[in-house]
Amino acid sequence: MALSGESLRRFEDLRRENSSCINLNPIQRGGILSPAARRALGEWGDGYSVCDFCEGCLSDIKKPPIDVFVKEALPEFLEIDVVRVTNGAREGKYLVMHSLCEKGDTVLVDGNAHYSTFVAAERAGLKVESVPNSGGPEFKVDADWYAERIDVVKPKLVVLTYPDGSYGNVPDAARVGRICRDKGVPFLINGAYSVGRMPVSAKKLYADFVVASGHKSMAACGPVGLLGAGKEYAEKVFRRSEKYKKKELELLGCSARGLPLITLMASFPLVVERVKRWDLEVGNARYFSSELEKIGGIRQLGEKPHNHDLMSFESEVFFKISERHKKSRFFLYSELKDRGIVGLKPGITKNFKVSTYGLSGEELRKVVDAFAEIAKL
Ligand SMILES: *Cc1c(COP(=O)(O)O)cnc(C)c1O
Repeated sequence: MALSGESLRRFEDLRRENSSCINLNPIQRGGILSPAARRALGEWGDGYSVCDFCEGCLSDIKKPPIDVFVKEALPEFLEIDVVRVTNGAREGKYLVMHSLCEKGDTVLVDGNAHYSTFVAAERAGLKVESVPNSGGPEFKVDADWYAERIDVVKPKLVVLTYPDGSYGNVPDAARVGRICRDKGVPFLINGAYSVGRMPVSAKKLYADFVVASGHKSMAACGPVGLLGAGKEYAEKVFRRSEKYKKKELELLGCSARGLPLITLMASFPLVVERVKRWDLEVGNARYFSSELEKIGGIRQLGEKPHNHDLMSFESEVFFKISERHKKSRFFLYSELKDRGIVGLKPGITKNFKVSTYGLSGEELRKVVDAFAEIAKL
C-alpha cells in the first residue's frame, strides 16, 4: 500500500462494528470498562501518562495513587503478601516459572490448562506434565489426583486453572493447595477467569501465587494483569536488577503503564463490589444453562450444576439446521447477529462457548429467546 492520504485513512476511522450488540464472548464480558474507567480514557490516554511523578519505580508512584493500589488494596483483595501489576496473566505465569525453575525442570498443570501456560513453560525451557481431566461430558479435574502425580513427576511448580477457559469448571483449589503445601511444592493459581469476577483468596486456597487478567476479568482495557506472591517467594520473583537498584528484573523494570493500569485502578472499586454478587452470576448462568437445555438438542458440558458464567454447549440442533440452511454453517452467527447478539465464533454450530457475566435479566431473556427461536428454523 501507499503510505499516504486515502490508504492511510483506514487506520484513523476505526469504528467498532459490534459495539451496540450484546456480546457473549467469554473473553470479553468481564473486561467491559466501568463508567469510571471509561471517563479516564481521554485524560490518561497519552503514552507514559502515569509517569509524571515517577521516581524510578512504577509501584511507588503516589500521584495517581498507584502505590496504595498496588501495595495495600490489591494484597488485601487477593489476601496475599505482595502484588505487582503485569501485562497479563501469562506474563505472571512466565515470570514465576522463569524465577523459580531451571531449564529442564517440570511444571505440573491441570488437564484443562490454557495454552498460555504451555507457552510460558516452553519459553522458560520447562517440561509440562498434567493431571488429566475426567473426560466428557464434565471434564472435571479431581484435586486428589495431584498427590500421586506430584510424587511421580516431582514438579518445581504446580499450576491450577481456576476456572478453565474451555468449560468454566471451578476445581477444588483449596484441596490442591493443601496437597502442594504438604508436599512442599509452590502452587500457582491461574485466576484469569476468576479474579475480578468471584472472590479469590490466596490464603483460603493455600496459593503461593495468583495470577489475574485485568482485560479478561477486572474491567480494564489492558493488556494488564496481576501477580500476587507469598512472602516466602516475593523476594525471589520480584528481585531487583544489580545495576539499576530500583528496577524489578522480571518486570524488565516496569510493567503495565498508562491506560492499562489506569483503567484497572479506576474500575477497582466496582470490581470489589461485584465479586460480592458472584452468587447472582452463578444463578444467572444456571438459569441460562437450564433454559437452553429445554430447547432440545442442546447440552451443557462441564460441571453440573455449573459454578461459573463461562459455559460450553454441544448443539446438535444447530448442526442439523446448518445442513439445510442457505447460509450453511454461518447461519447461527448470522441469525444471532440479526437479533443484536454477537460473540459466538462465525461458522460454528456443533459446539459453542458463551458467558452470561454481567447480563441483566432482560438481556438474559433476550438471549435465551433468540436461541429458542433460531432452533425452530
Ligand atoms: C485468557 C486466559 C489467559 C490469558 O490471560 P492474559 O491476561 O491475556 O495473559 C490465561 N489463562 C486462562 C485460563 C485464560 O482464560
